[in-house]
Amino acid sequence: GTPKLTEDPIALPPGVNSQTFKNFILRVSEVVGEENITIITKPEDHSKDDYMDPSKVHDMFNILDEDYFISSAVVAPRNVKEVQALMKLFNEFEIPVWPFSIGRNVGYGGAGPRVRGSIGLDMGRNMNKVLKVDVDGAYALVEPGVTFQELHDYLVANNLRDKLWIDVPDLGGGSVLGNTIERGVGYTPYGDHFMMHCGMEVVLPDGSLIRTGMGALPPPNVDTSLPADEQPANECWQLFNYGFGPYNDGIFTQSSLGIVTKMGIWLMVNPGGYQSYLVTIPRDEDLHQAVEIIRPLRVAMVLQNVPTVRHVLMDAAVMGTRTKYSTSDKPLTDSEIDEIAKKLNLGRWNFYGALYGPAPIREAMWQVVKGAFSTIPGAKFYFPEDMPDNEVLQIRHNTLQGIPSFSELSWVDWLPNGGHLFFSPIAKVSGNDAMAQYQLTRRRSEEFGFDFIGTFVVGMREMHHIVCIVYNRKDPEQRRKAHKLISVLVDDAAKAGWGEYRTHLALMDQISGTYNFNDNAQMKLNEKIKNALDPKGILAPGKNGIWPKNYDAAAWRP
Ligand code: ADP
Repeated sequence: GTPKLTEDPIALPPGVNSQTFKNFILRVSEVVGEENITIITKPEDHSKDDYMDPSKVHDMFNILDEDYFISSAVVAPRNVKEVQALMKLFNEFEIPVWPFSIGRNVGYGGAGPRVRGSIGLDMGRNMNKVLKVDVDGAYALVEPGVTFQELHDYLVANNLRDKLWIDVPDLGGGSVLGNTIERGVGYTPYGDHFMMHCGMEVVLPDGSLIRTGMGALPPPNVDTSLPADEQPANECWQLFNYGFGPYNDGIFTQSSLGIVTKMGIWLMVNPGGYQSYLVTIPRDEDLHQAVEIIRPLRVAMVLQNVPTVRHVLMDAAVMGTRTKYSTSDKPLTDSEIDEIAKKLNLGRWNFYGALYGPAPIREAMWQVVKGAFSTIPGAKFYFPEDMPDNEVLQIRHNTLQGIPSFSELSWVDWLPNGGHLFFSPIAKVSGNDAMAQYQLTRRRSEEFGFDFIGTFVVGMREMHHIVCIVYNRKDPEQRRKAHKLISVLVDDAAKAGWGEYRTHLALMDQISGTYNFNDNAQMKLNEKIKNALDPKGILAPGKNGIWPKNYDAAAWRP
């Protein structure tokens, strides 16, 4: 091997000595080739910190020390058979593996593994094809490395964008497959990605391969001498989610039970017309009324997409750093925030939505939406052409029609060396709940010296309340405060009956502990399944708080 492959990593896998690691890497190189192995041996190997060129080896928006959530090595399989072969090796050597697709996963731990020294499995580097786009069925079948931007580009390049739209999250650089199995969301009518996925191919911890739903039923005359992953699939695999018998897809989301190698995703048929809009909502306390207006419209699907109610500082942060607005080092006061809103021509809350369909349909919907929001005194209504300088409205105009963007993340530059954590509790679509969550999260943020930056993302029947905790990641004291803040918020929220939908590596144990109905009955089930499918505990130990039996969970609390 090259000298590089025989060097010791910064972090060895737990309980593995240098010699065993070298033997293991040698065996891995026989599977994937040396060019697909990177050992992380020195600080320069974990120095990347740019969304556009992200780290594949650690959490670059680190909340703990930079080398806390770090891999020993990163391995990039070239195909499904190599993934299967690698699973055998991980079992043989009892070395933990942390799969990721692109590894951006911003705000939730990036490419970093939960267990320091795990092997990062870079599923996206070599397995990055759009395998199929079916226009009649309006779906795509993708490999792990396909980003939202790439799927969109594929539609454009093949003259399909007139027919089909994708749904994108705020940023276009993540993996369609990775985001979906983490249950991420976007903002078109197809915003709930997991709801819109259809069919998976999964390598289980023992290296065996399954296809879920209709994928379990082979099409006629399949050549079964082909490797399973190359066999043609059932034509309904991407058309009907459930197949026959228990529906397994859910156990491969936010999970440590399998490595997803292919996934179907439904695409939205071009609705034949589109209009995005902004409603500015002037006063802080108007949040209550706005949410009461939103609920009936959203469940009735008059609000057709996943709209957002954004706090003004989120928009202000996209449009400038904090120093542009204030010289104060204390959390901004109400009057300072009002001042910023005035300057930007925004409300304290800003509602971004869109209308879909031919003009008569949009006009009818708009009358209803506008009529409803007009009951808020001082609410104002804008289309993107009315506010060419409102960068956020221009970005949302693209995002809400599935055109990826890379600009939204600039709110992390609110502070110098900005890093961020997401605190993401689920809320009822009710004025009281929204106000209570807002007041709690703002009060706690300010207590720890942070501005409140947040948004309510309105799903079918609930809201993902996303609080962006922005801190200076080069300042250990700020990192400590941000970590403490989110931890306090998790407990506060649980006491109020609120739980988070997803979280950063450092909070997984705490949050899974709050989902503890009936003496942790759900966790006991999760552990039983984990230990049955992965008896050696090699796949993503600790992910979402689920520890295999050979780990002492308490010893791994960050
Ligand atoms: P992003 O799409 O934002 O770049 P990642 O690729 O980092 O996100 O994926 C986020 C998380 O989803 C990972 O940390 C991992 O837990 C899980 N994940 C991603 N891809 C896979 C996969 N192919 N198989 C199993 N789990 C995956």
